[in-house]
Amino acid sequence: MNHPLDEHTWHRMTEEILAGMREWRQAHPKATLREIEDELDTRWARVRARMLEDMALASAAANWAATAEGQQPTCPDCGQPLRLRGTDTRTLQTHGGQSLNLARSYGTCPACGTGLFPPR
Ligand SMILES: [Zn+2]
Repeated sequence: MNHPLDEHTWHRMTEEILAGMREWRQAHPKATLREIEDELDTRWARVRARMLEDMALASAAANWAATAEGQQPTCPDCGQPLRLRGTDTRTLQTHGGQSLNLARSYGTCPACGTGLFPPR
């Protein structure tokens, strides 16, 4: 599973903010400094969350399936290499209240049955 950084999407989302803020400003000519700031923060939080998600998924630890033999995570109880079982998605909240979906690999120990997510 490869997850290249989707910079094209980052650019597109950023351009949408610039155009969107221009329109918003025209529709809200009497907005206070605080209101403008809140609007900016809300919009940037989405790009920020997307960038965070992309960069987290691109990290080597999230990409266990592609990890070389001998470098795979081991059982903390008995030291056996874990057997990859699949991926699981967890949802986190970022600063700014955006939801972040992170898929990560998990495995079980073939010797003692311990199941866990490898540490990041
Ligand atoms: Zn074990």
